[in-house]
Amino acid sequence: MGYTNSPLVDYTRISPNRYVNRKHTIDRITPHCIVGQWTVEQIGNCFAPTSKGASCNYGIAKDGKVALIVEEKDGSWCSSSESNDRRAVTIECASDTTHPYAFRTEVYEKLIKLCADICKRNGKTKLLWLGDKTQTLNYAPKSNEMVLTVHRWFKTKACPGDWLMARMGDLASKVNALLNTDEAKKEDDEVVSEGKIITNGKEYKCDRILKNDENFVKIGNFRNMGFNVGYNANTKAFTLDNKVNDITVNFDGQDKPVRAVNIGGYNYISARDLAAVIGKTIDFKDGKIVIE
Ligand SMILES: [Zn+2]
Repeated sequence: MGYTNSPLVDYTRISPNRYVNRKHTIDRITPHCIVGQWTVEQIGNCFAPTSKGASCNYGIAKDGKVALIVEEKDGSWCSSSESNDRRAVTIECASDTTHPYAFRTEVYEKLIKLCADICKRNGKTKLLWLGDKTQTLNYAPKSNEMVLTVHRWFKTKACPGDWLMARMGDLASKVNALLNTDEAKKEDDEVVSEGKIITNGKEYKCDRILKNDENFVKIGNFRNMGFNVGYNANTKAFTLDNKVNDITVNFDGQDKPVRAVNIGGYNYISARDLAAVIGKTIDFKDGKIVIE
């Protein structure tokens, strides 16, 4: 899928501290407390030097402005966990410098909007806060789910602070309320993202649209999977089939029909039929085709 950045960004200063190409789709959001009531410029300056060895995807300043520090296509160095940072969008939020590291109202409200925007652009209709570290880190999110994680699960530290920890459930429910408005649903209809289809044991990429929690796949994609895709102008219907056709194999000077399917432009012939043509028997043992 093509990665994009948030339209909510007010200021951009890309940090050199990042995993170029994150190599994992985005299915987590990790909010952090920056331990300072900073401006976007201060956030940009903080992560600019290589010597800092840290970054975030977005920073939310004390006035609610958003800084882009690492593009979403890249992973940030933010959560003391490479595996988390390669799949998460990380957000450093301006906060007080002491416990419980409270956020200003503008910051929290922008965090809700930014999380909803990240979910929408990445094809997610639900943000989950499971609360428990082990449960969350072992959870395999469904294709429409985004999961919240926190820095303190990866390193012994207070981040994101007790103020936000007490509100993680509230954050998820407010983001989900934004994702579930009629307007959001209408927008979902127009978002085409990359999905995967497994057919005949092979994985194919496809263009899909997620609508009301159901996947719709561009019909032309089925052609790449070896299906015959046609259009009947009279009935205004698409036709789709993956017929088993006979092809002829010439063996020892004799033409014999064997059943075949065309998948991805290649013909796959029935192993059983082929064995019969060459006068052998076929068996299926321990997941292996055995021809004797
Ligand atoms: Zn943190």
